[in-house]
Formats: sequence, structure tokens, C-alpha cells
Amino acid sequence: PAEPALEAPQHADVAALLPRPAAESDKYRRGVVGIAAGSARYPGAAVLAVWGALRGGAGAVRYVGPAGNAVIARFPETLVSDQGPKRAGRVQAWVVGPGAGDDAEPVAEVLATDVPVLLDADGLRLADRDAVRARTAPTLMTPHAGEAAALLGTAREEVEGARLSAVRELARRYRATVLLKGSTTLIADPGRGTVRVNPTGTPWLATAGSGDVLSGLAGSLLASGLTAQDAASAAAYVHGLAGRYAADGAPAGAHDVAEAIPSAWRDIT
Ligand code: AMP
Ligand code: MG
Repeated sequence: PAEPALEAPQHADVAALLPRPAAESDKYRRGVVGIAAGSARYPGAAVLAVWGALRGGAGAVRYVGPAGNAVIARFPETLVSDQGPKRAGRVQAWVVGPGAGDDAEPVAEVLATDVPVLLDADGLRLADRDAVRARTAPTLMTPHAGEAAALLGTAREEVEGARLSAVRELARRYRATVLLKGSTTLIADPGRGTVRVNPTGTPWLATAGSGDVLSGLAGSLLASGLTAQDAASAAAYVHGLAGRYAADGAPAGAHDVAEAIPSAWRDIT
């Protein structure tokens, strides 16, 4: 029988995906996630992406970029470097872009690696399409409607009016897994024709920085060894539930969402 075009993962599906360290595990086996994000102008994006990554199950978080001091002040366990991604040492998956500004160099450097890469925010804008298409390791792109429209060369309203075809078209054009954020989060995979719909979430998540937390969380799951499609759908699921917990009848900031990730994770598993 033909596969259904749309899939909506539930608690048990996500529980089966979330990493759990084996008794003999170590931090490298759990995965090292690299975060190339933040700038002098937006240091907070780096902090929020690292926050999401620390809550996502990787064994270590490596940060490269100009916001190292802000990151270290909040999260002393982060491995910080002011060198570019190429010199960062061992990393099993990269997150590049949140609050990163106009420097295209780190984006090109991570795209040239043979590990999974998550492109978000400025990373989406600065990535060379041919460099993405030429990658041998998975690429995960996480645009909101405005970013998706820029990538497709169309208007935001066009994407909002046809989200399913937009996410499919992006996955096809970039040969990447694409998570389209918004009132419904859709995840399209370049290989299978299926699209996943995230059933959790709340409009309270429409707040500055919440996408940065999602990027770090999904990157951490990529570093743990999940496929791009599984990392994207598990991250969206946990992030959405964390958003509901954080904004339980009252507004919450992105850092509250990050803080609620462990409760969401516990309830799922
Ligand atoms: P960003 O646009 O990068 O800040 O990311 C915003 C986050 O909030 C994403 O996880 C979106 O899916 C989520 N979000 C934004 N608007 C809504 C909405 N109306 N309903 C549910 N989630 C939303
Ligand atoms: Mg964003």
C-alpha cells in the first residue's frame, strides 16, 4: 500500500527516538554538537542555541563564534573556541546561523564538513545552494515562513498560503530535510515523499529566540545520531511541549521554553 503523505508522530514515536545513554557510554559516544551562532549584536542567540543543545542529549556542546564570553558566563560546561568551525576539533553535527550576522565563512566551513549540518536564520541566507546540494552528509534547514519565502524567491504570503508545497519544494531544491516553522510545523524529507506534521506547540512560542532554542535542541539530536527527519520531528515535538509547559496560561520567554525542555522530555519518555 502507498505510504500516507502526512505523518503526525505521537508520544510513543518520539519516546523511541530520544537518546538515552548506554551504561558504557561516554561524552564522545553521546555526540558532540557544534554551535556556530551569535554575534556582537546578537549574543543572546548563541546562548539560547547552546541552551537548547545542552538539553538535547549530546555529550558535549562546542561553541565557535564571537559570543563565547556570554555563552561561558551562562553555561560553564560549554567548550568555547574563538577559531572558526574548521579548527574546532571533533564535532558530530553543526548548527550554524542563529543571530550570526553577515559572516559567510563559518557557513561555508560547516557545509564543507562530512557531518550533519543544521542551517537556521542567517545560515539559511548565507548558504550557497550548490554547496548544500553537493553535501554527502544530511542537511537540515529550519526556516520560518519569511525565510522560506526568501529561499524560494517568493512572498511570505505565498508560503503561508501553501505551506505543504513550499516545504516539499525546498526539500527538493536543496536536497535537504526542511522543517518549516509556524502555526503548524511541517517537516519534509528529500528522500521519502512524506511530510511530518508536529502535533505539539502553541502560539505562545511566537516569541523572540524560541527558534534559536529549537535549533540547538535539533542539532543535539543530530549529534546523537538521529536522522535529520527524526531529529527535526523529535525536536519540534519536545520544543512544542516545552512551550506549552512554559506558557501555561501566561506568556513565556524563549529561555523559559529551554528551561521546560527537561519536563517535556520526562513526560514523553
Ligand atoms: P523563529 O521564527 O525562528 O523565532 O521560531 C519561532 C518558533 O515558534 C518556531 O518553533 C515556530 O514553529 C514557533 N511558532 C511561531 N509562531 C507560532 C504559532 N502561531 N503557533 C505555534 N508555534 C509557533
Ligand atoms: Mg529564527
